[in-house]
Amino acid sequence: MGIHDPYRIPRPAVISFSGGRTSGYMLEHIVAAYGGTLPDDIAVVFANTGLEHPATLDFVDTCSKAWGVDIAWVEYDWDAPHRTRIVDHRGASRGGEPYAALIDRKGFAPSVGIRFCTGFLKRDRIESHARYRLGLRRWHSVVGLRADERSRVLRMRARDCGSRTGARAVLPLADAGVDERDVLAWWKRQPFDLGIPSYAGNCVLCFLKGRAKLLRLIREDPSRADWWIEQERRVSNRTNAQGRACESMKRFRLGETYEELRAAAFNQADLFDDAVADTEACYCTD
Ligand code: SF4
Repeated sequence: MGIHDPYRIPRPAVISFSGGRTSGYMLEHIVAAYGGTLPDDIAVVFANTGLEHPATLDFVDTCSKAWGVDIAWVEYDWDAPHRTRIVDHRGASRGGEPYAALIDRKGFAPSVGIRFCTGFLKRDRIESHARYRLGLRRWHSVVGLRADERSRVLRMRARDCGSRTGARAVLPLADAGVDERDVLAWWKRQPFDLGIPSYAGNCVLCFLKGRAKLLRLIREDPSRADWWIEQERRVSNRTNAQGRACESMKRFRLGETYEELRAAAFNQADLFDDAVADTEACYCTD
């Protein structure tokens, strides 16, 4: 591994565990680099939106048990101290409750243009855990971005995390030159796995995913669209500050509601639009 082992991360550190194969790979390698036990000043946090695939939640739990790592499960909750509720595998939301509560609070749907979900549901929750639960003022924020995710790595490095939050980004996989093939090959050799294709990771019907992926995911289980359709209905009367209808605040995706998307999933013309070309789940961590 050369002079410096990228998995001997600087401390104190807070590892963002997304519940995907990539961050699982990273976590196991960090644990191994510390001889099988994480030092007390390295924490691991999983931020649950309530819309993750059930297999993702099981995977987080399995990783925690298999590698003997404490993983703090956090959720957005306006009424909890610092808006952050601590849950566990059994008590974790599975019906999008934290996410729906956030949309209630904001009064409109996030979208590619105003993507407030990642910040409120994940980044801020992990940060508030670090700051208030762990009492850290400065820490290293460890994120599982791979070497092949070049633009995301550059964006993350360019952002001056330190000045705003006290957290400095550390990207061990990018430092180690690990790409997606390495991650998938490694998981093939493990006694357990995530159990779902990568495109079903994060919020299952995340609006950042390509249309073909969304159609495929809806075809696999049409009820997955229910929550998204319901949210778009709830904000359907949304107007801007001048009282005018504001289309972009009523829907997650430009030009097509989730209701229309679900209809398209079963439309003959779209049935063959099923190529899941890129394997990246979505860029939620950015
Ligand atoms: S996975 Fe997508 S929908 Fe879920 S929080 Fe991230 S960006 Fe938002």
